[in-house]
Amino acid sequence: MIWHRHTHMALHDRFARPLRDLRISVTDRCNFRCPYCMPAEIFGERYKFLPKPQLLTFEEIARLTRIIVRQGALKIRLTGGEPLLRQGIEELVAMLAEIDGVADLAMTTNAFLLPQKIDALKAAGLQRLTISLDTLDDAVFRQMNGGRAGVDKVLEGIAAAEQAGFSPLKINAVVQRGTNDHTLVELARFFKARGHIVRFIEYMDVGNRNGWRMDQVLPSSEVVALVDVEMPLKPAPGNYYGEVAQRYQYRDGEGEIGLISSVTQPFCGACTRMRLSPEGQIFTCLFGTKGTSLRDPLRAGASDDELAAIISRTWRARSDRYSEIRGLLTEAAREERRKVEMYHIGG
Ligand code: SAM
Ligand code: SF4
Ligand code: SF4
Repeated sequence: MIWHRHTHMALHDRFARPLRDLRISVTDRCNFRCPYCMPAEIFGERYKFLPKPQLLTFEEIARLTRIIVRQGALKIRLTGGEPLLRQGIEELVAMLAEIDGVADLAMTTNAFLLPQKIDALKAAGLQRLTISLDTLDDAVFRQMNGGRAGVDKVLEGIAAAEQAGFSPLKINAVVQRGTNDHTLVELARFFKARGHIVRFIEYMDVGNRNGWRMDQVLPSSEVVALVDVEMPLKPAPGNYYGEVAQRYQYRDGEGEIGLISSVTQPFCGACTRMRLSPEGQIFTCLFGTKGTSLRDPLRAGASDDELAAIISRTWRARSDRYSEIRGLLTEAAREERRKVEMYHIGG
């Protein structure tokens, strides 16, 4: 483990949180229309996605990543939108894998295109994969991805990942009360048998477009209780500082699950993540309202040192802790806040 290597030189924000992770959203496009993220009625045919010239090129992403890694980030995750929709994504993976100081290079994907991409990703140096799958019930799954794919497609992607040696996988499942809560135990059981780690994510009010309501959130404590009845669990210690998932191990010693409880048990106090959007803005919170452009200065000819200064200034000024204050906001205040959308900066 070399997570601590940069501790002394790492940048800290106003709450003394170091910069450790960088999430890079490589595209704002997606082949799914999960209603909790990109509802089809808003992201329809007429929706204007970013035109290509506005997206960071791979060279630009690699350069910014190198600078951000020098400032303390150790773990890199590619996300989106759907990262596999970005043409030639494996070339970016290869460029990032070469950067000195990157201790972990991962991707979050819906797996739809994974069978055709997996070998190239592996060869390029991708280390870990998180695959999103909310349920094994085909009808429920279609409802949760806007009717774009059946469970079998994702399972094919998972099989391809296993074959390429990505194991254990993390399987992200968004939990929505009244939608997939009756299928969670089955999901846990299925992936326990295959040695993968399901991470149940509380449905969050990211962006302003998913019509989030608190009564659709099933608290993680209830998820743990549901699974525990069938397959007894015990709490497990965290792996590292800033880990977002609470871990529970199966008492039979065979595997674990994770709970990401952004709504009921916020973890802002140890949040070490910076996000880079497809058009080159950095955000210091998933629920941020305003990004800081790195693309504009970069394209205007800024040096690495000048870009580094913008990055460190932005991190030092960081005081975000949205999930901790969410409960204090009135519904009107929450809705007024113009947050960045999830598909824009990734989960
Ligand atoms: N398209 C890829 C995927 O779905 O894996 C990567 C991007 S997606 C925005 C990253 C993660 O965020 C996914 O696991 C998704 O389920 C999760 N997510 C999206 N909207 C969410 C919401 N409103 N609440 C909780 N998690 C959400
Ligand atoms: Fe696409 Fe992922 Fe958002 Fe679903 S969660 S719409 S797959 S970006
Ligand atoms: Fe980090 Fe913002 Fe999420 Fe808090 S709400 S954990 S600061 S991303």
